[in-house]
Amino acid sequence: MNEVRVRYAPSPTGLLHIGNARTAIFNYLYARHHQGSFIIRIEDTDVKRNVRGGEESQLTFLKWLGLDFDEGDGIGGEYGPYHQLQRLDIYQYWANQLLQLGWAYKEYKDPLDQSCFAIRFKVPENQILAWDDLVRGHIQYDSKEVEDWIMMKDNGIPTYNFAVVIDDHLMKISHILRGEEHITNTPKQIMVYHALGWEVPSFGHMTIIVNEKGKKLSKRDADVEQFISQYYEKGYLPSALFNFISLLGWSSPNNKEILSKEEIIQLFDSKRLTSSPSFFDKNKLNFLNAKHLKALSIEQLEDFLRPFLAQAKIKVSNNKYKKLVLIFKDRLVYGQQIVQLYNEFVNKKFILTPELIQECQIYEQAVAVIEYFLDRVVKLKKVESPLIDELILATQKELNVSGKALYVPLRIATTAEGHGPSLGVILELLGKQKVVKHLTMTLQTLKRLK
Ligand code: GLU
Repeated sequence: MNEVRVRYAPSPTGLLHIGNARTAIFNYLYARHHQGSFIIRIEDTDVKRNVRGGEESQLTFLKWLGLDFDEGDGIGGEYGPYHQLQRLDIYQYWANQLLQLGWAYKEYKDPLDQSCFAIRFKVPENQILAWDDLVRGHIQYDSKEVEDWIMMKDNGIPTYNFAVVIDDHLMKISHILRGEEHITNTPKQIMVYHALGWEVPSFGHMTIIVNEKGKKLSKRDADVEQFISQYYEKGYLPSALFNFISLLGWSSPNNKEILSKEEIIQLFDSKRLTSSPSFFDKNKLNFLNAKHLKALSIEQLEDFLRPFLAQAKIKVSNNKYKKLVLIFKDRLVYGQQIVQLYNEFVNKKFILTPELIQECQIYEQAVAVIEYFLDRVVKLKKVESPLIDELILATQKELNVSGKALYVPLRIATTAEGHGPSLGVILELLGKQKVVKHLTMTLQTLKRLK
């Protein structure tokens, strides 16, 4: 087979899941690395299990992850239609061929009614069904391990194992990477290829993904967010997810972990797919996302974060917004945290706990520092970060205090926090009115306690 043609063939029975996305990504990488075609085919024959919005979620989030495809719904291609339910006559045709060739037989539901029947594939005796798996090496089954299986149901809808072969052959698929749950399906599919005299594509069955306890990730596992939409909503970058997912069962030859899509395409080698379980390490995903966020330009980051504040109905002027992004950018693991950070440092109720008061009291000059600072802040027209920095410096010189003795009382007296990002910017974001109010309150409390 010369031309590389691979496909991702989701069943729209749910939202795009980490496991699906990995299958899609590995097939995509295989296609792009080999300058082949990447095809999307919707396997919607399990009508009862199809869910509303399932197909849309698959396609929307595949595109979001950056998986552009060459053939499929909405794009077209020579080998359509790309929905199995639109190909029923094709399966019927090939089922009839197999019946005629003696590779299949009808099974009547009711012997008195000859119009309603399923079609079973007649499994050959004494045959070895073998393939060299791209991930696991040689695998073989004896045909006696497989029972005659249903190809066409009595409602005229094919089963997965039959439709998949017809489509993969007619769509000229050369390589198939999929989950290991399909290993036991493969001998059935190979039988059909043999029966019709078709060339068998290459198969690769990928490792399972496990959670922290070493258990296979299940959609019911509530501890792990498993749908791509959830990561989108939280503000993970598609490039980071792409990077993370591509390392679930594959490693780069130079062991580099922070990689762009283009780098992964270039480095991708199916020989480096591993058959040992891959651990879904949330910390690693967070680490990668933080790295990908850091790689954005400040303008890109501003654009990326804006919707999260808007969604939380937080309004800040453009000028303040830029500062906000600047002081919090190094703390962000994912986008939505901008809201938490804003609420934690800027929008928080000012509550002076006894612990904070005590922390202030450690410093002998706390009252003097706060008093001096307040006195000067009141005179500022506007609280802007460079002016605050100057003022802090002036306080330092005037009272001859520095380091913690200077910063801790000021920070506590303005933000009710013992630590935090650049004080100047935080005070600017708080605005003069609040800064003055907080300083006054703290000063009163400290004086009362003296
Ligand atoms: N529709 C199948 C699934 O979602 C595709 C399996 C295959 O790639 O052959 O598991």
